Amino acid sequence: MALLPEFDPADVGAGRGLIDRLTADAAALQRDVLTEILRRNSHTEYLRGFLDRVPPGASAADLREAFKERVPVSEYEDIKPYVRRIASGEPSSILCSEPITHLLTSSGTSGGQLKLFPSTAEKLDQRLFYNGVQALLRKMHLHPDQGDRRGKGMYLMFIFPGSLTSSGLPIMASSSAYYHSSQFREHDIGGFGRCTSPIEAVLCPDGRQSMYCQLLCGLLDRGVVDHVGGTFANAFIRGIQFLEDNWEEMCSNIRTGRLSDWIAHAPLRDAVAARHLRGPDPALADEIASECARKPWDGIVRRLWPGARYILAIVTGSMSQYIPVLESYGAGLPLVSPMYVCTECAAGINLNPLDLPSAVSYALLPNIAYFEFAEVTHGDDEKVQASTGLYDNLGKLKLVDLVDVKIGRRYELVVTTFAGLYRYRVGDLLTVSGFYNATPLFRFTGRCGVILKIDYESISEEDLLKAISQAYELHLRPLGYMLGGSTAYADISTLPGHYVLFWELATAEGNHVATDIDRTVMENCCLAVEECFDQMYRESRRRGSITALEIRVLERGAFDALMDLFLSRGTSASQYKTPTAIRSEQALLVLEERVSGKYFSQETPNGPL
Ligand code: AMP
Repeated sequence: MALLPEFDPADVGAGRGLIDRLTADAAALQRDVLTEILRRNSHTEYLRGFLDRVPPGASAADLREAFKERVPVSEYEDIKPYVRRIASGEPSSILCSEPITHLLTSSGTSGGQLKLFPSTAEKLDQRLFYNGVQALLRKMHLHPDQGDRRGKGMYLMFIFPGSLTSSGLPIMASSSAYYHSSQFREHDIGGFGRCTSPIEAVLCPDGRQSMYCQLLCGLLDRGVVDHVGGTFANAFIRGIQFLEDNWEEMCSNIRTGRLSDWIAHAPLRDAVAARHLRGPDPALADEIASECARKPWDGIVRRLWPGARYILAIVTGSMSQYIPVLESYGAGLPLVSPMYVCTECAAGINLNPLDLPSAVSYALLPNIAYFEFAEVTHGDDEKVQASTGLYDNLGKLKLVDLVDVKIGRRYELVVTTFAGLYRYRVGDLLTVSGFYNATPLFRFTGRCGVILKIDYESISEEDLLKAISQAYELHLRPLGYMLGGSTAYADISTLPGHYVLFWELATAEGNHVATDIDRTVMENCCLAVEECFDQMYRESRRRGSITALEIRVLERGAFDALMDLFLSRGTSASQYKTPTAIRSEQALLVLEERVSGKYFSQETPNGPL
């Protein structure tokens, strides 16, 4: 089978066959992918250093064996010098035989550091293939009855303008590189993606103008919208909050047929005026205004887009905290979490888009990259090791192939790509939940390692998210409150240190509740979080080497301000993920300025010692 077979995402019959072949032939495809990567790249400076003793004319099997034997697992610090050299004009071939066309920035919100990864033209073809498979799955599971009369998606997409290296190589977010590509323009936005957003809005470098026009066009097309969303849940929620603040102006534009003057980006203005806002439409403006004026805003997605069948956005991992807010906006619409994607490699797809968020698993497409897995624990209940996987008796990280992972075990993902990453540790933890044909299905479990630590305890991303969700379900959900954002940090500015959680809270009516929330409720939340933490944490609390956990409630818009800070530093809005924990002084300051209430745990947490 060709590594990137052509297919028509609208042809469900043929598509089913494609998915079956991809997942059934996983072992062969993985072998072919590694063979092809090595055929092309074993002479690069990077790989030559490890494979120089492989005799010329060695078979593909020997080369694969040598790769597994000799090429070490790498981290960002290992490839950074190569990326720097390419950025300053050295040839791509030091890392990869294909010309490197871009350097892609990761969002820097999950790992804390903004990283740069090489990318090639082929990577955009892979992305098109990947999005096509997702469109096919949506067609199979979510629009089986619609035939060619498919509606459109009100799907929010943003770019970050990016910059150039000293040698003239574009630096941009991976989503921005894709949105700029002909693959997206020619096939995705107008074709199998079918979006209400004009391409000029997606490519507009001004985030506010882009957001305004994408929502305006989504409202103008409300009669044909069959789904709404954005890549990550927090971006879509930001869109709905923007709409809440701007719907009156949008309705006035629709009523008069005239776009607000502040939309000044010429290509965007022209496109919206010529193709979307084609004259006064007071009837449509009245319909929209009457829905928007009705408080509370729960169910607003259904009311504004009555044909919407689902909300499409990633809601696993750190995005799970937004599920209650999305459920409230969607009033029963399914939440579809379609993909597991990272800048290093876009390959994870949800084969059952209608699975509940808590049950979502992703399959890694075996034709996109070569995947290996470092086992971290043997069971779901075991604590994630603070370090990094299991080692063999030579001290090498033990890796297994995609088809050899075991159900119930947890692994760290290691990828080898066509674009110059070799046995690269992505830093994500994946737990195997089952298999589809020969391809494993993974639950996203969180970022690797410990994100909070003061004393002997170690709190992983998963621990923290579970604790927050438990406290929310116990004490806030029953009272109708929603968590609009959460992040944490370990405050050791005074000793003994303590953990601080920043929460933005709202009621279903959309009112901010910081001032009138009951103190005891918040104190109980603090304790509930602490009681979910590990035994070492509870011991430290009893000994007094960690003091009471604190929740700082924030004013409305605090998490928007945090996102703005990250966007100003080069993160693309399409890739932004609210960080589960923060370390940066600047980020802390943004939140500190917006604190409206502070609550502390009043008891020592209980739990077995
Ligand atoms: P970036 O490369 O900066 O855009 O971020 C990619 C990271 O986002 C991944 O390494 C994951 O940590 C996180 N991520 C991507 N997809 C998902 C998902 N479906 N669920 C949870 N986290 C995700």
